[in-house]
Amino acid sequence: MRNTILITGASSGIGKATAKLFQSKNWNVIATMRNPEAETELKNLERVLVTKLDVTDDQSISDAIRIGIAEFGNVDVLLNNAGYGAYGPLEAFSKEQVVRQFNTNVIGLLEVSKALIPHFRKNKNGMIINISSMAGKMTLPFGALYHGSKFAVEGISEALNFELEQFGGKMKIIEPGTIATEFAGRSLDLQNDETIIEYQDLVNKLMGNVKVMFENASEATMVADVIYEAATDGTDKLRYIAGEDAKMIIENRQALGDDAFIKEIKKQFGL
Ligand code: NDP
Repeated sequence: MRNTILITGASSGIGKATAKLFQSKNWNVIATMRNPEAETELKNLERVLVTKLDVTDDQSISDAIRIGIAEFGNVDVLLNNAGYGAYGPLEAFSKEQVVRQFNTNVIGLLEVSKALIPHFRKNKNGMIINISSMAGKMTLPFGALYHGSKFAVEGISEALNFELEQFGGKMKIIEPGTIATEFAGRSLDLQNDETIIEYQDLVNKLMGNVKVMFENASEATMVADVIYEAATDGTDKLRYIAGEDAKMIIENRQALGDDAFIKEIKKQFGL
């Protein structure tokens, strides 16, 4: 039987590139997104079902899973990809904005997983692939919310793997570096409060630093290739780094240890 993947946040970037790659590899694809009516490209591909799923809306999660299983009979792999980045001084965020970051990147991922795990358990098979980030392994100034959410994804994924293994399931974590998608554009929730003068120098340095980092961003198709490898390599490997920048930074932290690595980050910001 043909394999089926369900992808969250398939309207753009990594999610869309992954939907196209798996379709080209002869998989069935349940490409879920908040606004399926706006999607034109994926709808034209055979074996791709485009359907609504907002990770913060429980009803849309269960509807998408039900519609997907009705169409293809089964789901083998869940790709928890939907997410965005909230950056800025904590003081500049309302509670609503804080909650939205964690509801999307963390609670949403948990709820979609929770909704599919009974299906995987019944099948004694099934894989969850969570999109973390190199931002789940290191932090930048004013990234308390985004890095906090991705550190949470790392811990959640590692712990959940023990559970999944009890019935033959598997967890994979993908850690991309900077990727040329909508992430640094419409998916960036950038907040600042210019009246808090103590932060402004560092805010400006962060903006400059992020701009440089994204000048060398890799393509979303590179991450899709790594996700495909994770889904199909048949190993128990848990973490997959995607991109040379991520590889360098993650290995550097491991080699230096926490304190020396954080000193290096400070140096980059002239601190
Ligand atoms: P994009 O902005 O291109 O894609 C983000 C996707 O998430 C969009 O499809 C967006 O949908 C979707 N999304 C946001 N909120 C929700 C929600 N509530 N329910 C369902 N979907 C939602 O960026 P990327 O492709 O880069 O981001 C994908 C993932 O990769 C994220 O988890 C991000 O944190 C991670 N990542 C990105 C990196 C990068 O440098 N680009 C680096 C490392 C990790 P909509 O079109 O409706 O807004």
